[in-house]
Amino acid sequence: MRILQVRVDECSMDEALSQASQWLAAYPEQAPMKQIVTLNPEGVMLAIQDATFRNVIEKAALVTADGNGILWAAERYGIKGVQRLTGIDLMQRLCQLAAEKNWPIFLLGAQPGVAAAAGEKLQQQYPGLRIAGTENGYFRDREDQVIATIRQAQPALLFAGLGMPFQEKWLAQNAHQLGAAVAMGVGGSFDVLCGNLKRAPQFIQKLRLEWLYRLVQQPSRWRRYLALPRFMAAVRQDAKRTFKIS
Ligand code: UDP
Repeated sequence: MRILQVRVDECSMDEALSQASQWLAAYPEQAPMKQIVTLNPEGVMLAIQDATFRNVIEKAALVTADGNGILWAAERYGIKGVQRLTGIDLMQRLCQLAAEKNWPIFLLGAQPGVAAAAGEKLQQQYPGLRIAGTENGYFRDREDQVIATIRQAQPALLFAGLGMPFQEKWLAQNAHQLGAAVAMGVGGSFDVLCGNLKRAPQFIQKLRLEWLYRLVQQPSRWRRYLALPRFMAAVRQDAKRTFKIS
């Protein structure tokens, strides 16, 4: 489907996992890296203004609907039953699968120590999970070295928690050098996993107020939330136009 002309795939968790299993079936044989993008309303608004990001989304192997805002928008276009597939949920299920299949993972991103701590948490959750390596996300002055480290580690899955849209662009730009089979941007998920940031309890998620829960923990992010009312206004207008044409 298209939300404000930006690609989002209708894909359930099971479908995403089965896709990823297919892509990983040949691992460790080298194939072009498959990139998964989890897209939220803020991402859609960024993509509208940023052709490079939009291009990464177009070329990605899979683009999931990350956030209730995307589901709401889909309904405005008359598309019902789209499932929400957030980065952190998909990452955890992929790690579960990786532990079962013995696929090593690499965690890149966040402040020093956070990715390693997140890796330990994941290993507690999914015993047997192999961590091929971790690196913090502040590597502008040693980028080549970080790329070489990832390539040598030969991860099946590479998770990049570098913030959107940088993580998506960086993965796409370096796809041929990273040597991973599947890669995905996960934003602040390492901070959530290692306990620096709390994920909203289920009932708050059900009330669709996860964004507010995060805002209270990180008030400095308030500007980013301005994207949501802009997104909603744009979708309302676009959906009206679409229905008039068809
Ligand atoms: N981050 C990073 N390198 C950078 C900028 C940010 O590793 O150059 C990390 C930051 O430490 C945090 C993560 O990116 O762990 C997510 O940032 P943000 O909350 O902006 O991303 P979002 O979840 O909204 O995509």
